[in-house]
Amino acid sequence: MEYDVIIVGGGQAGLAMGYALKKKNKRFTILDENESAGESWRQRYDSLQLFTPRNYSQLHGFLFNGDPAGFPHKNEVVAYLKRFKEDNGLPVIYNQKVMELSQEEDEKFLVSTQNHRYKARHVVVATGAFYHPFVPKIHDSSIPFMIHASDYKNPSQIPEGEVLIVGAGNTGIQIAAELTRTHSVLLAKSKPIKRLPQSIAGRSLFWWFDFLRLSKENPDSMLGKFLQKRDPIIGNDYEIVKKHVEILGRVKSVNDGQAYFQGSSPKKCHQSFGQLVIVMIIHGLILMESPMNMETQFIVMESQTKKDSILLV
Ligand SMILES: Cc1cc2nc3c(=O)[nH]c(=O)nc-3n(C[C@H](O)[C@H](O)[C@H](O)COP(=O)(O)OP(=O)(O)OC[C@H]3O[C@@H](n4cnc5c(N)ncnc54)[C@H](O)[C@@H]3O)c2cc1C
Repeated sequence: MEYDVIIVGGGQAGLAMGYALKKKNKRFTILDENESAGESWRQRYDSLQLFTPRNYSQLHGFLFNGDPAGFPHKNEVVAYLKRFKEDNGLPVIYNQKVMELSQEEDEKFLVSTQNHRYKARHVVVATGAFYHPFVPKIHDSSIPFMIHASDYKNPSQIPEGEVLIVGAGNTGIQIAAELTRTHSVLLAKSKPIKRLPQSIAGRSLFWWFDFLRLSKENPDSMLGKFLQKRDPIIGNDYEIVKKHVEILGRVKSVNDGQAYFQGSSPKKCHQSFGQLVIVMIIHGLILMESPMNMETQFIVMESQTKKDSILLV
């Protein structure tokens, strides 16, 4: 069967796009390599609570159950996305990992998965900014244990001893605060940490972004570019980290049992009182990375124009 549009990725961006296409009566389908909606959220660490309130975490005004001003647990997002897909009758073909995208002579796209081929005039790539973890090549046999944040679930996975968390974005700070209850924690940061509260004068931070129209700012404007660079830490976890965590500079290298940091003295990977465990947090969150009901970014490939373009919906 040939489609008007194939959407690759059935996360919140893919489902939101599907909803919009359905309203326009387009022939489309969504392909996703996972088994059900919300998988990218389900796989994240057990304690994850969103810093965006429920009323800023909903798609197309489709109600997110619970206190609108409260902050949902990640499992609520999983349930919400499943309900969004089911109640809106969105066609998603699961267990389809897109391996290749090519353009035919007739300019239509051929989308190849592990066991099928689909044809479409347009392809929307909505595979997410955080879905594929980036793991830099710091591998040294002197590191006793290393885990990326995308595989971290809870403190019980981390062996006893000191833990070095590399990356002080929101994920790094949240995991650092959680691990202070069970471990002695060090945190390596590459830039100054700027904190923003979750609420100001009884209103959520995102209400203020809307009110001040910051969330509608064009990402290419001067203000848009400035805001994208900020990447603030949202919430109270940084207060815990400041009190209980040793904060170090950027990791330069790990060699022969020593970790080297910019502006801080090296640390031994095997301390006499335990091990140095490394948790890599490479994906942080950035301010303009939109909460779900604000603009979502898609890369849209159009067969007529033969070039990639960015569409904001
Ligand atoms: C730890 C963490 C905490 C976060 N907290 C917040 C928060 O509080 N508030 C907020 O607004 N945002 C938060 N975010 C960001 C938010 O998760 C993302 O903005 C959002 O998930 C992006 O949605 P998406 O649909 O673009 O991508 P995803 O939700 O990642 O969905 C991508 C989909 O594409 C599929 N896929 C990928 N590759 C392929 C392929 N080759 N073939 C087929 N399918 C494929 C995947 O299976 C997945 O279903 C957080 C992110 C992280 C990592």
